[in-house]
Amino acid sequence: EKIHAASADPNRVVFSFEFFPPKTEDGVDNLFERMDRMVVHNPSFCDITWSAGGTTADLTLEIANKMQNIVCVETMMHLTCTNMPVEKIDHALHTIKSNGLQNVLALRGDPPHGQDKFVQVEGGFACARDLVQHIRAKYGDYFGITVAGYPEAHPDVIESDGLATSEGYQNDLAYLKSKVDAGADLIVTQLFYDTDIFLKFVNDCRQIGITCPIVPGIMPINNYKGFIRMTGFCKTKIPADIMAALEPIKDNEEAVKAYGIHLGTEMCKKILAHGINTLHLYTLNMEKSALAILMNLGLIEETKFLGPYLGDALQMFSVL
Ligand code: FAD
Repeated sequence: EKIHAASADPNRVVFSFEFFPPKTEDGVDNLFERMDRMVVHNPSFCDITWSAGGTTADLTLEIANKMQNIVCVETMMHLTCTNMPVEKIDHALHTIKSNGLQNVLALRGDPPHGQDKFVQVEGGFACARDLVQHIRAKYGDYFGITVAGYPEAHPDVIESDGLATSEGYQNDLAYLKSKVDAGADLIVTQLFYDTDIFLKFVNDCRQIGITCPIVPGIMPINNYKGFIRMTGFCKTKIPADIMAALEPIKDNEEAVKAYGIHLGTEMCKKILAHGINTLHLYTLNMEKSALAILMNLGLIEETKFLGPYLGDALQMFSVL
C-alpha cells in the first residue's frame, strides 16, 4: 500500500518511525527486536535510510524486505543518487518491487566521502527531481514517492550567518515544487527545532501551489553532543531557549533525554494544533524517546516497557 493516503486523512493523526542500517550483525538483530516492539503501536509506515554514498546498499535492501514481509509494517526505503548509475538504481527499485514494497524516498544524497560538492556519477542522476522523473517514467504509478523538504532551505543554500537569503529560500521552494510536479506524493522534512519555521514553510509551500501532505521530521534530543553535531551538520537553527535549557544539564544524559521528550512533546502539540495530522519521528534506532512523546500526546497506550523509564525521566525533568 502507498503511504501518502494515510497522511492525507484529515480525521486521523498518524505517525511514522525512521531507522538506519546498524553497523554490526548484533545491531541488526537488536533493531528488529526494537521494531517488533514499536510496530505494535501502529505507525502508518516505517522507513529505512540509504547509507551515505550507498556503501551498505545490500543491507538497506535486506532490512527493507524484512520490515515489509516479516515485521509486517508498510515500509518506505530511502534511495539516493550518490555513486549510483541508473543500472544500480534500477536494481534497487526492481528488488524492492519484487519484495512487495511500494514506497520510496527519492533523494539526491550528499557528496561522496571526502568531496565538497555533489557530482553526478556517470550514467546517474544530478538531483532528486531527476530520480523522481525516472521512477515515474519507468515504473508508472506503482511506487508512492516521497521527497525531502527543508524548512530552513537546503544546507547548500544557507549562508555563513546561518540563514538562507530570501532568494535562496524561494529558489529552494520552487525546486521542491518541481520535485512534486515531477511525481512526488509526499514531503518529509529535514529536522528542525523552531516549530514556527516549519509552520511558515508549510504555509509558503501552499502559497506556491504544493498541495501534497508535508510531514514534519521530529528528532528527539537524546544526547547533547549528538544534538550539536547533527544541528551543525544540517545547519539547523537552535532557538535560544532550547540552548539555555540544555546548557546547565548537558553532562547529565538522563536529564537531556527527559528534556528532549518534553521539547518533542511540546513541538508536536503545536504542530497538531495547527491542523497538521502527521508526525515523522527520527528514532536514531532508539525507541524510548519516540514512544514517550507519542504517549504524552495520547496517541499510543502506556506500555509496561516504557512506564518506569518515562516516570524517571519526567521526574528528573520536573526537578530541573
Ligand atoms: P535535491 O532535492 O536534489 O536538492 C538538494 C538541493 O540542491 C536543493 O534543495 C536545491 O537547493 C539544490 N538543487 C538541486 N537541483 C536543483 C535544480 N535543478 N534547481 C535548483 N536547485 C537545485 N541522505 C542519505 O545519504 N541517505 C538517506 O537515507 C537520507 N535520508 C534523508 C531523509 C530526509 C527526510 C532528509 C530531509 C534528508 C535525507 N538525507 C539522506 C540527506 C540528503 O541526501 C541530503 O540533504 C542531500 O544533500 C540532498 O538530498 P535531496 O534529495 O534533498 O536533494
